[in-house]
Amino acid sequence: MKKVKVATVWLDGCSGCHMSLLDMDTAIIPLARRIELVYGPLVDAQEFPDNVDVTLVEGAISSQEDLNKIQKIRQRTRTLIALGDCAVTGNVPAMRNSLPVSKLLQSVYVEGVQKNPGVPGERVPALLKQARPLREFVKVELCLPGCPPPAKTILTLLTDLLDGKKPSTLSVKFG
Ligand code: SF4
Repeated sequence: MKKVKVATVWLDGCSGCHMSLLDMDTAIIPLARRIELVYGPLVDAQEFPDNVDVTLVEGAISSQEDLNKIQKIRQRTRTLIALGDCAVTGNVPAMRNSLPVSKLLQSVYVEGVQKNPGVPGERVPALLKQARPLREFVKVELCLPGCPPPAKTILTLLTDLLDGKKPSTLSVKFG
């Protein structure tokens, strides 16, 4: 049987959504028989591949680098899933949105910093004015809210998709 190509992506999030994915414990074994994990923090792949069936994206879009990445991912993915509240609403990364970027960088890298204060410039990706949810930049087929979404919910969603069903999970929203 041909395996479904699945990718996971970590943008501006805390990795908690990926931890929840791993929290499936042994349930991940039957799932692993049906999917090929082609990209993500758990895979040693440098370039996002073409023709990915399902991509789960954790985190908000906060930097120009995130934006470039999500646009490429969108072009190469059939079903894009916003995984967790940061991807769905902006959530924690969006807490900085009331501050101008210059003030934010000053407060993080300069004010109250004892050793080598200074904004790092090109060493960190250029921030967008605000951290925003995925669907404001690209089409998203499914939103899976939660901070993080429970492992069981992620498992149910993926199993439904693999079975060719409309996801039955109550908390899943179509983007
Ligand atoms: S939704 Fe919650 S767990 Fe997931 S990346 Fe954001 S803060 Fe972390």
